Amino acid sequence: MILSFQPFQLKFKHPFGVSGHTRSETTSVFVTIEQNHCIGYGEACLPAYLGETLEGTLLFLKKAGTLLKTVHSTVAITEILSAIDILDHSCNAAKAAIDIALCDLYAKLSQQSFCEWQKIPFKNSMPTSFTIGIDHKEKIIQKIKEAEHFSILKIKAGTKDDVDLIKFIRQHTQKPLYIDVNQGWTNTEEALKLIDWMKDQGVLLIEQPLPKEKKKEMQWLSARSALPIFADESVKRYQDLIELDGAFAGINIKLMKCTGLMEAIKMIQYCKINRLQIFLGCMAESSCATGAMAQLMAFADYVDLDAPQLYLNDPFKGPSYANGEVMIQKGLGLAVEPIINVME
Ligand code: MG
Repeated sequence: MILSFQPFQLKFKHPFGVSGHTRSETTSVFVTIEQNHCIGYGEACLPAYLGETLEGTLLFLKKAGTLLKTVHSTVAITEILSAIDILDHSCNAAKAAIDIALCDLYAKLSQQSFCEWQKIPFKNSMPTSFTIGIDHKEKIIQKIKEAEHFSILKIKAGTKDDVDLIKFIRQHTQKPLYIDVNQGWTNTEEALKLIDWMKDQGVLLIEQPLPKEKKKEMQWLSARSALPIFADESVKRYQDLIELDGAFAGINIKLMKCTGLMEAIKMIQYCKINRLQIFLGCMAESSCATGAMAQLMAFADYVDLDAPQLYLNDPFKGPSYANGEVMIQKGLGLAVEPIINVME
C-alpha cells in the first residue's frame, strides 16, 4: 500500500480568539492510502489545543508509510492498525488519519459502504450542536446568529464568569445548551450548585467539569449531578474508558484523540454494554474526517459534528447541513471525496 500525505491550511470563515491571539486558520494533514488503483482518504486535524505538532505528525506518517509499503490489503485492518499504533506512544491524530484512510480503502475494495463492510447500522442524519467558543460578547452574538439553523448550542465555558456568560446567552437565545467546561471548575461543591442552576437555565449536559486528574471528585459529582456529565479530556482511548468507575454518565468520543474509527467502535461497544451515553464529537476537522465520524451516528445519543461549517476552503465533499442536522449519504467507503487535489 502506498501512503501519501500533505499538510493543508483550513481557513476559518470567522477568525476568532481573545486577548489579541486571533486565529484565522488551522492545519490538517490529508492522507491517501492506495492499493489496486483504489484510494482511501484520511485526515489528521491538528488544532493548537490538541498538543500534536505538524513536525511530529509528518515524521510519524513517514514511518507509517515505510511500514505500509510492505503490507497488502489481504492483511486484516486491525493487525495493520496494531502495528501502526506501536510506532509511537502519541501521534493520535496521525493514527486517526491512517485508520480513516484504511477504513475508506478497505470498504471500497470490498465494493461496500463503510457500515456494510463493518456490519454496523447506518443512520443518515441527526441534529448536531453548533459550538460557540469563549470570546468577546459581540463575537458571541455573531456566533449565535450564525447558528440560527441549529437547534442546540454547545457553549465553551470553564471560567469564573460562567454564570454571567449563560445569563448573557439567555438574553439572545432560548435554545437548549450543552456546556463544555474544559476542566475549568476547581471546587466540586460549587460545581454541583452550578450544575443545578444550569439545569434551570435549559442546559442539557455538562462536559468535563473538573480536571482529568480529579477522578474521585468526578465520581462524587456525577453521583449527585442533576445533569448527565460527559468525559472529554478524561477519556482519549479505550484503555481510559475501562478505568472510569462511574465518574461519568457518558463519553465524548473524537477520532483525533481515540486514533480512529476502529478504536471508536470498540469504545462504543464498551459504552453500550456499560450503559454509558455516547456523544460523537470533533476537533476542527474538514468534511473528510467529519464524514468518517458521522458514519457512527446510529450509535450516538448526541452529536457535535459542526466543524466543516467553520471553513471557507473545505477541500472535501462529505456531510451536508440543513435544519440543524448533519446528513450523510450512503456511498462507497466513507462517501467523502476531495473537490481539489489535496496532495498538491
Ligand atoms: Mg470538550
